[in-house]
Order: sequence, then C-alpha cells, then structure tokens
Amino acid sequence: MGWKPMAVRAAGWALLGALFAGVAVAADAPAALSASDSLPVADSFPVATDARLGGDASQTRFVMDLDRKIDLHVFTLADPYRVVVDIPQVRFQLPPNTGESGRGLIKTFRYGLVMAGGSRVVLDVTKPVRVDKAFVVDAADGAPARLVLDLAATDRDSFLRKMALDDKLVRANNPPVSVPSGGPQSDSNDPRPLVVLDPGHGGIDTGTKASSGEAEKDIVLEVARRLRDRIEKTGKYRVLMTRDDDTFIPLADRVRIARNAGGALFVSIHADSLPRKEGDAQGATVYTLSETATDPAAARLAEEENRADVIAGVDLKSEPDDVAGILIDLAQRETKTYSVQFAHKLVGEMRDTARLHKEPIKSAGFRVLRAPDIPSVLVELGYVSNKQDLQSLLSDAWRDHTADCMARAIEGYFSTHVAGARAGAN
Ligand SMILES: [Zn+2]
Repeated sequence: MGWKPMAVRAAGWALLGALFAGVAVAADAPAALSASDSLPVADSFPVATDARLGGDASQTRFVMDLDRKIDLHVFTLADPYRVVVDIPQVRFQLPPNTGESGRGLIKTFRYGLVMAGGSRVVLDVTKPVRVDKAFVVDAADGAPARLVLDLAATDRDSFLRKMALDDKLVRANNPPVSVPSGGPQSDSNDPRPLVVLDPGHGGIDTGTKASSGEAEKDIVLEVARRLRDRIEKTGKYRVLMTRDDDTFIPLADRVRIARNAGGALFVSIHADSLPRKEGDAQGATVYTLSETATDPAAARLAEEENRADVIAGVDLKSEPDDVAGILIDLAQRETKTYSVQFAHKLVGEMRDTARLHKEPIKSAGFRVLRAPDIPSVLVELGYVSNKQDLQSLLSDAWRDHTADCMARAIEGYFSTHVAGARAGAN
C-alpha cells in the first residue's frame, strides 16, 4: 500500500505558496511538452470526479476520486475543529451539493482554489479528531486514483498537542518566511488616487448561495469588474482589484494589498442572505467599521463575513494581521469620517436606481474594513434570499446600472474630498 505519513502543517501561507509552486509546475509539465498548443492550461490540471464519506462517529473515511495521483499535505485547525487537505490545483467536477451533508465525524466539507496552483479541501469535524491515515492510491485496473483520509475521534488535549507538535516540526525544518508584500500591484508613480475594489470571497469560499445555486463570489466579481471599467474610463483614478479571478484571498491580505498599494478608497463588495426562518429582507446596505454594531443584524453579518478565513481553512495563528486589534481612536477619526461620507454618497447615488435596504447605512466590526488609514466601506448589494433582489443581482442591466451609480459616487466622493481638503488648507 502506497500511503505515506501525512505531512505536517505549513508554517504559513507563503510557505504553502512555495510548496505548490513546484508541484504545479510538475503537474503542468506534460501539457507543456505535448505538441498541442491549443490545449487550454486548465485541461492539464488533475480532475476530481467524486467524493464520499464512510464510517461512523468513531472512525470516518473521506475518499475523493481523481484522474491521477497527486501530492497532499494535511493539517488540523482548532476552534472550530477542521481538517485541511492541501493539494495541487485540481479541477473539481464533483456532483452538485457534494460536501453539504456529513457522516460520522465529518459535518460538511468544501473544496476549491486557494491560490494559483493550489487547491484545498476543508472538512468541518464534529469533535477533535486524529488523522490516522492520509494517502493517495494510484489509478489501477480501470479504478480512478483515490485520495483517502481516515479520521478517528480523539480528545481535545491530544488534538491540540498534535497540532503544536506539527507546528514545531514545520518551524524547525522551515525557518520563518517573510510574507511577501505580493498581491496585485499598481503603478506608484501615477499621482491619480487609487481605488481598491474588493470582491468578497473567492475560490474555496463561495460566500452565500442562492437556493438556485448562484454564488456570492461570482456575483460580486462581476459587479466589481464592471465598476472597475467605469472608474478607469473616467481617466481620473487608478483601480486595483484584490482579486480578478476565482481565487481565495484571506481577509488580512485584502487590507494589506490596499495599504501596500497606497489605496485612497477601499470598497468591498458582497451580497447578503437571510435564513428563511428570519423572514425576508431586501435592498442594498452600505457598512462602515465600528467596534459596536448598529444592530444585531449588522453584528450577525459582520460575524458571517469575518468567517471567510475559517471557511477557507486559514491558520489564523500563522496569518500575521498588521492591523489586528486596532481600535477606532482619535488617529482614525478622519478615516472614519471619510468612510461615512462616502457611505452617504454611495447610498445617495444608489437610491435612485438600485433598491435600498430600509436602513441603508450601518456599521459593524468587519475585519476587511480595518485599514486605519484608508476610508473603507463594505457594500452588500442585496439579498440572494430575496426573489426580486436575486433577479436584479443576476441581471446584466442591473449590474451595469449599479456599477454606474457606484462609479458616480466615487467621483462625487473624490471631488468633495479634494475640495474639502483644499478648503481646510486655506
Ligand atoms: Zn460576503
């Protein structure tokens, strides 16, 4: 049997990137060597075709079928308990709803891209588990290759001890890597103000989902792209997107990208949903940062949006957060004032066209709004749980229209902002 001991957890995101860089190249090599230049790159990635669970609440097995053998790297995370399987970039062609229901120790699982060259499966487990086995069996006799994970119930102390041990091993073998300033860059010699657009979620983190299957991550990327095009067309601003494809970006990285690039305004774009039992809500809402939420609904939403890293299996310990724990103090008052000003501009422009929530401006503790020096808002475009909103969110005309309104608000903001600053200087 060709199983190998599971690898230990990565010391950090950067290390993971390095790990995959090599793997991905190897996986791509056959396509590059084949004479067929017309072959799309995506076709060279391994394909996952099915995934299933077996066993019971003391021992549970996870199996994923693949068209070829791949490397894997397994680690665990606590609070909430998760098992994370990192693999090279894979095309997931699993049946719909795969992973939404659990069995034994596994509650749910999800899968997707976490970075170029790297995919990930995150399993939510019901209690502390031990990874007994983690291996990939090669395809043979017509059977697909199979990634197999055997989990056994354990206690919290053993779970945490194992996690700490793995951590130490990785750190001993791999001296700390400095996190690359990385991410999208923009031309810093260009004096025009930089607008950073942040389409929420991506990759393994789908965000909220409509009952008809449309994912928040796709809807918000579409709107962000249209907004970028409109802002760029004015010629007055530069635009940087925190992501322009279906990749996951950790929350702290989104803030870091904006700060490294010297953003003058940060606009995070999302779509909300309400569980059916909580009734119906509709319309767009614009959020700014505050330590205490405007109301319980805003607090719930911030909690939901802040879970993105947990969903994607990011080890928060190894994810340096430059702006963690920053409170809204006097130093940030100006940023806050500008954020609120922009929120009002945005709501003013959207009022005429998009539908607005009955209280369209709110605030709560969103992690992604924590840049202390960049006015930042988070726009929830509407509710995918509301029939009419969903229709809008999926409509080309509505998306164009909303992007127009948002672009106008951005122009309006900068013209008053700059005028205000000049008046202040006089
Ligand atoms: Zn969201």
